[in-house]
Amino acid sequence: MTERFTGSFTQQEPIPEEGIAAAVEVMRSGRLHRYNTVPGDPGETALLERDFAEAVGARYCLALASGGAAMTTALRAIGVGPGDPVLTNAFTLAPVPGAIAAVGAVPVYVEVTEDLVIDLDVLETKIGQASVLLLSHMRGHICDMDRLMDICRTAGVRVIEDCAHTMGAHWNGVPSGRHGLVGCYSTQTYKHLNSGEGGFLVTDDDDVMARAVIGSGSYMLYGRHLAAPPEEAFRKVRLEVPNVSSRMDNLRAAILRPQLRSLTERGHRWNALYRAMEEGLRHTPGLTLVGRPEAEGYVASSFQFLLLDWDETNVRAVVARCAARGVELKWFGDAEPVAFTSRYDSWRYAPVPELPRTDRVLAGLLDMRLPLTFTTEDCALIARIIRSEVSAVHQAGQAAE
Ligand SMILES: *Cc1c(COP(=O)(O)O)cnc(C)c1O
Repeated sequence: MTERFTGSFTQQEPIPEEGIAAAVEVMRSGRLHRYNTVPGDPGETALLERDFAEAVGARYCLALASGGAAMTTALRAIGVGPGDPVLTNAFTLAPVPGAIAAVGAVPVYVEVTEDLVIDLDVLETKIGQASVLLLSHMRGHICDMDRLMDICRTAGVRVIEDCAHTMGAHWNGVPSGRHGLVGCYSTQTYKHLNSGEGGFLVTDDDDVMARAVIGSGSYMLYGRHLAAPPEEAFRKVRLEVPNVSSRMDNLRAAILRPQLRSLTERGHRWNALYRAMEEGLRHTPGLTLVGRPEAEGYVASSFQFLLLDWDETNVRAVVARCAARGVELKWFGDAEPVAFTSRYDSWRYAPVPELPRTDRVLAGLLDMRLPLTFTTEDCALIARIIRSEVSAVHQAGQAAE
């Protein structure tokens, strides 16, 4: 019998009952705007910022309307402006170069390795080309952050981390988002916390945080924040920074706070799913698993593998055959962007460099979500399906040679 998978790759878990109750409470109060507070109640958004700062060990945290808004706010807060080059890894998602372009700056893409992280040897050769690196921990893969920070520190390059897929993850025990000057996170539905849309930025820097708060649209109400610097930091910048409204509201914050409390537990469940996928696909001829270094404390909410140096027709055949059995694989090698998947050469507003190593990786890269509604048995079944279809196409390909 041919096995089929019938689950949904886009079905997330429900919002915890505690979050639903807190959201209803906010709606009953009518005070949805974060600065619509009453004495004795700082509001859900300010409380969430305090909780998140504590969770990642940051001095300051700002909640925003999206992960993209967090990155744009961070870039503005550190003074990136029109025409400035900003280094970023070539394997990322559209909101990353989009954030750079939104402030008029220009993405300078850096090659990625077969482990799906920025190529640090190439970064070293390009480090003189910019004073900022927006590093995207794409699909949760974390590079050697100790070496990356050494390279950037030596060159005087400031680092913003895009932690859309690494909330709750670590490198060498340091939370993702806490290596660079600013860490940015997303709480969009497909990330590690779900408020539909939303984001955070964290930093320890008084000036950057004051600019970010004013820049996000605090008016002169910044004193209501619980995870922000003292008044002096704001006095210097409050009339200088343009207001680009991108605040979070109390309704979303209310559903996020209970989720944040279970982030670690959810991370363990994601990793159990990931390991079931990895086990099921190990030693499949023609298929390369992605290396995960010892120092990387990942939270694997998605799974990737490579069909390196395969013919395009054969990769397409694997995708089609898996889809016919209910397994949705996203391929990063397609010339045209599809759904959430796009690649550096589809972002036509920015210069497209030659990146042969990245091209080779993307041409063989297959990607899938691992929603927490899956069980480890689901993952074992998905892996059996992928394994059998990859093997069938691989064997046919070899017989044809
Ligand atoms: C989702 C995502 C973001 C931010 O997304 P928003 O939808 O703006 O919250 C940033 N970087 C990567 C790599 C992402 O996947």
